[in-house]
Amino acid sequence: NCKEKKIEEYVRSIPDFPEEGVIFRDVTSILQDADGFALAVDSMQKLLEGSKVDVIVGTESRGFIFGAPIAYNLHKPLVLVRKKGKLPCETIEQSYELEYGSAVVEMHKDSIKPGQKVAIVDDLIATGGTIEAAAHMVEELGGEVVKIVFLMELAGLKGRERLSKYNVASVIRYE
Ligand code: 5GP
Repeated sequence: NCKEKKIEEYVRSIPDFPEEGVIFRDVTSILQDADGFALAVDSMQKLLEGSKVDVIVGTESRGFIFGAPIAYNLHKPLVLVRKKGKLPCETIEQSYELEYGSAVVEMHKDSIKPGQKVAIVDDLIATGGTIEAAAHMVEELGGEVVKIVFLMELAGLKGRERLSKYNVASVIRYE
């Protein structure tokens, strides 16, 4: 069907948000269209084809939105990387640098078993700091990061270089 919209057409781009000079790529405009949401999930899941994956890891909070349906479709466990202080049981943590200051994320200690093959899912890669922190925790728990999948990639911020030791794939690439 030649009338079907491409995934890029569902992304709303907002200039100067959250600050001047930044073009914000909005995920809500995809989610609030049933066809857009389905296409986004299907396109991300397609990037996992050919990878043997035991566990899907999603990062707070937009990684949950895409990680959950992918884990459900593949009938795999979904593991959450959350901001510090949200997870109730024993956790490991990792801090990472933000533009201003730093942040800490956590995972439950029992969420990954040694040797498990893990795919990490998030909506967007900018500098790659968030996902690098998530990958380090997966490895600390003995998991193997076999794939990292994003819906969108801001290529200019060189996140891929930061994650160069991993197999990274994205559906939409912005230069
Ligand atoms: P990073 O750790 O790669 O520098 O930052 C990535 C995180 O920032 C992602 O979790 C993403 O949700 C958020 N982020 C940064 N820029 C944008 C943007 O333009 N659009 C959206 N939707 N999220 C962004």
